[in-house]
Amino acid sequence: MGAGPNGLAAAITLARKRLSVLLIEARDTIGGSARTEALTLPGFLHDTCSAVHPMAAVSPFFRSAGLEAYGLEWIQPPIPLAHPLDAEAVVLEQSLDATAEQLGRRDGAAYRRLMEPFVGQAEAIFDDILRPFLRFPKNPVALARFGLPALLSARALAGSRFKGERARALFAGLAAHSFLPLNATASASFGLVLGMAGHAVGWPIAKGGSGEIANALGASFQALGGTIQLDRPIGNIRELPTARATLLDLTPRQIVRLAGDRLPGIYRGRLARYRYGPGVFKLDYALSEPIPWLAESCRRAGTIHVGGFFNQIAASERLVSMNQHAADPFVLVAQPSLFDDTRAPEGRHVAWVYCHVPKGSALNMTERVERQIERFAPGFRDVILARSVLTTKNLEDRNANLVGGDINGGATDILQLIGRPVFSLNPYRTSVPGLYICSSSTPPGGGVHGMCGYNAAAAAWKDIFSK
Ligand SMILES: Cc1cc2nc3c(=O)[nH]c(=O)nc-3n(C[C@H](O)[C@H](O)[C@H](O)COP(=O)(O)OP(=O)(O)OC[C@H]3O[C@@H](n4cnc5c(N)ncnc54)[C@H](O)[C@@H]3O)c2cc1C
Repeated sequence: MGAGPNGLAAAITLARKRLSVLLIEARDTIGGSARTEALTLPGFLHDTCSAVHPMAAVSPFFRSAGLEAYGLEWIQPPIPLAHPLDAEAVVLEQSLDATAEQLGRRDGAAYRRLMEPFVGQAEAIFDDILRPFLRFPKNPVALARFGLPALLSARALAGSRFKGERARALFAGLAAHSFLPLNATASASFGLVLGMAGHAVGWPIAKGGSGEIANALGASFQALGGTIQLDRPIGNIRELPTARATLLDLTPRQIVRLAGDRLPGIYRGRLARYRYGPGVFKLDYALSEPIPWLAESCRRAGTIHVGGFFNQIAASERLVSMNQHAADPFVLVAQPSLFDDTRAPEGRHVAWVYCHVPKGSALNMTERVERQIERFAPGFRDVILARSVLTTKNLEDRNANLVGGDINGGATDILQLIGRPVFSLNPYRTSVPGLYICSSSTPPGGGVHGMCGYNAAAAAWKDIFSK
């Protein structure tokens, strides 16, 4: 139930085992938070939610899914990520050497020392971190080596490894994807994971938009004999047809609401105590021309982190964690139409933008976000033809999984990275036999990688069908 990337991945994994699989979705299209829509003007195609897909590129599920046969085409922007600091930008290039070079001699060497061992073993490390945490790893040595710095706060790691502002700022932007304050335990893990992915596989975008990922997953599922029912919002799991296994692509709050009367009290209580993280405020732009970044490298990058120096990003993320709105928010920008001419009319462009806000925030952050972008791209406002604004509530109205605007299916602090949604050796299994959770509220968490769905399907297969 639920045709997001994880619901689709679970459905495909079980259909590959020749099971009869029905996928039920509330909306009139599949994809969940991987969708592309005409949110502004005719001819402009916007990624309403996910836009940039390093986690799909490293995912064992995606790598084995053969989605290219169903029309999915990945595009690698020449530079995965640029991070402007006044008129200059620091960049994450796919090449580790090129990235290290622009950080200066001392920080370049420190960056290489930090990243090189992980990049060399990226496949083995991703294979372990994209599965449940409470199990014996396949590659214990590589994982232990990765785990030590990953458990640090971003501030501790960047402060101990780097002397200069450029490397620290680059790492702050990567770590801020955690939605955690940058002095929180394990906030460094997000920086390491995204940096490692950038060097190992790049930060690709899907040609035509992230909706094409969902379309390819849906086509693959149907080719395996699976059935999809759209426009079917489920209000209680008793409405679902009888099945030997039911997998819910939902977050704990909805599961308590939809299935609470079937869950034993202790388990229900554990799900009810699950915590959600901050939300996002989302903007999509139709532009008359590319964003006029001062730094030339920003014009060749798929993603731009806008927020300045480490301490500036840390200050804005700290406020959000205290349920306050930052005056100068950390802003994420993607500019897919620079590399994909299917996204906008000739010569025109789209921009995908969000910033972090307190959960459930109703504040319109447009003015603050645009002021931040103008800091590094003066004249940005002059190229705007139209904009779409989505508050946390708008996002949740479109997809009930986005509780309070949380895009990761729940807070990603250390306790909930490990105990997701509860502490268990098999976190996908609920305490009702045959009922499983397969959403990003299970390990490995948020992102379009399908691994929550794949792992949940593997658990159901083992418990029910393999005997
Ligand atoms: C603004 C935004 C930006 C993001 N950017 C990125 C990015 O750049 N890269 C990246 O990798 N990830 C990104 N993400 C995160 C990523 O999109 C999610 O982590 C991922 O989609 C989670 O997949 P899922 O299958 O667990 O859940 P979802 O994608 O949320 O899918 C859940 C599905 O269940 C359906 N559903 C819910 N309730 C019911 C019901 N009662 N009955 C029937 N169906 C129901 C929903 O309609 C939905 O289709 C972003 C997310 C958002 C919102």
